[in-house]
Amino acid sequence: MGKPTGFMEFPRNAASYRDTATRLLDFHEIYTPHDDHRLKTQGARCMDCGVPFCQSNDGCPIHNLIPEWNDLVYRGQWREALDRLHKTNNFPEFTGRVCPAPCEGSCVLGITDPAVTIKNIEMAIIDRGFAEGWVVAEPPAERTGRKVAVIGSGPAGLAAAQQLNRAGHTVTVYERADRVGGLLMYGIPNMKLAKVEVVDRRIRLMEAEGIRFVTGVAVADGSNGSIDAKKLKAENKAVLFATGATLPRDLPIPGRPLKGIHFAMEFLTANTKSLLDSNLAYGQYISAKGKDVIVIGGGDTGTDCIGTSLRHGCKSLVNFELFPKPPEGRAGDNPWPTWPRIFRTDYGHQEAAQRDGHDPRVYSISSLEFQDNGKGQLKGVKTTNVEMKNGRFENVPGTEKVWPADLVLLAMGFLGPEHAASDPLGIAYDERSNYKADYGRYTTNIAGVFAAGDCRRGQSLVVRAINEGREAAREVDRYLMGSTRLP
Ligand SMILES: Cc1cc2nc3c(=O)[nH]c(=O)nc-3n(C[C@H](O)[C@H](O)[C@H](O)COP(=O)(O)OP(=O)(O)OC[C@H]3O[C@@H](n4cnc5c(N)ncnc54)[C@H](O)[C@@H]3O)c2cc1C
Ligand code: SF4
Repeated sequence: MGKPTGFMEFPRNAASYRDTATRLLDFHEIYTPHDDHRLKTQGARCMDCGVPFCQSNDGCPIHNLIPEWNDLVYRGQWREALDRLHKTNNFPEFTGRVCPAPCEGSCVLGITDPAVTIKNIEMAIIDRGFAEGWVVAEPPAERTGRKVAVIGSGPAGLAAAQQLNRAGHTVTVYERADRVGGLLMYGIPNMKLAKVEVVDRRIRLMEAEGIRFVTGVAVADGSNGSIDAKKLKAENKAVLFATGATLPRDLPIPGRPLKGIHFAMEFLTANTKSLLDSNLAYGQYISAKGKDVIVIGGGDTGTDCIGTSLRHGCKSLVNFELFPKPPEGRAGDNPWPTWPRIFRTDYGHQEAAQRDGHDPRVYSISSLEFQDNGKGQLKGVKTTNVEMKNGRFENVPGTEKVWPADLVLLAMGFLGPEHAASDPLGIAYDERSNYKADYGRYTTNIAGVFAAGDCRRGQSLVVRAINEGREAAREVDRYLMGSTRLP
């Protein structure tokens, strides 16, 4: 433990984002440079708890060795901190940027004081590691001769591929998008996770380790230029599905076919692709410029739609949320160390408040219809306020209102994975249409076929996808070799 009295001496001092008005002018990352002195004192706040809840199941899903690297950062032993971090996390540069940090929600210090700034410390360790040249390709010393196909290149597929490659297997990752990374690439926007500098940097290292990536072609039934899933299975000793939960939840109210209503992922994907292809110069994206924008649905996806719309220069911005505003502090049924379900202000909300003078979120509201301008184009959304009665939302009479809108972004979550690649193999699904495979085992009903990440558990978090990818790799290795040394 670094400084036994650190938690009493130093208040929490989390790193701030770049100035709100300035960062709205570009799509660069929102983070500020790391401040070693601040990080050292923040590391000193860690109490090195006998039972470190930060790394328990309620805290970190990959069980990062948090008190160990907090202490090492306090002592200035960055290289050792990096080694401890990489023991449990293949991609701390992703989680250090985008994780909501359930570890901080479980931090013991958080019972009486603000939690340790664990996420800031994680990001600083890995960024230092890259800056110092400590993060290098780690190809395996020997190859087993076993071939494994991973379908999907999100965090689950990438974590599994890296682990399996390190165990000596010959791994090919199949990705239907033109770039590797899943939602790390086309989902989470550049301002939260830089594509070239951060995502691609890791992919290049993985290629140097011997992993092969095949992009721009889907795995399905072999028709229309797709890769035949059955052939892929026959050619590989094991196949891992890491295809994500990509089916968006729709809002089938009157007026849905009108022009101007898009799923959030259509908007976010096109924006990032266009940004990377041409710095938005070719105009191959859905622009919010000069438009009245309504984002329906909160969560990370909604926030990312807000941040992107603001950068386009939207005219106005509103964010509808069906649920009531969360409390400022933990409710009685939400005790430590569970994830605090409290009111939070994310980067997009901050930016909207800065530009427009108020938070864009409107709570307890439900959309009734999309209104037509007479030419098939959206001109407004009719809503009603709702309240919870007997466990169900009911409309509040007399609260109907029409909001001007010429762009609506649907960010209401995801229903589960697509089945185009799994149906040809006869993979069984659970009652929510996810691939049926037990947590910890990851085996589907078909021998040699495994599933991990959002396609198995439903839309979740990057850190949980990494956890499942790592664990699934261990099970694939056990299946191939009879035993495994993977963690
Ligand atoms: C907009 C948005 C923002 C988010 N922000 C955050 C955040 O800030 N923090 C956080 O922790 N989580 C966030 N999440 C959730 C997080 O991104 C996901 O939980 C995580 O990426 C899931 O990883 P995965 O590997 O299971 O799947 P994905 O990342 O979804 O990757 C699946 C990949 O499989 C590919 N694929 C699918 N079918 C096929 C096929 N037939 N053939 C070939 N390839 C195929 C897809 O193209 C995709 O690239 C966000 C999600 C969204 C949508
Ligand atoms: S729970 Fe908080 S104080 Fe305790 S070891 Fe983890 S980070 Fe440190």
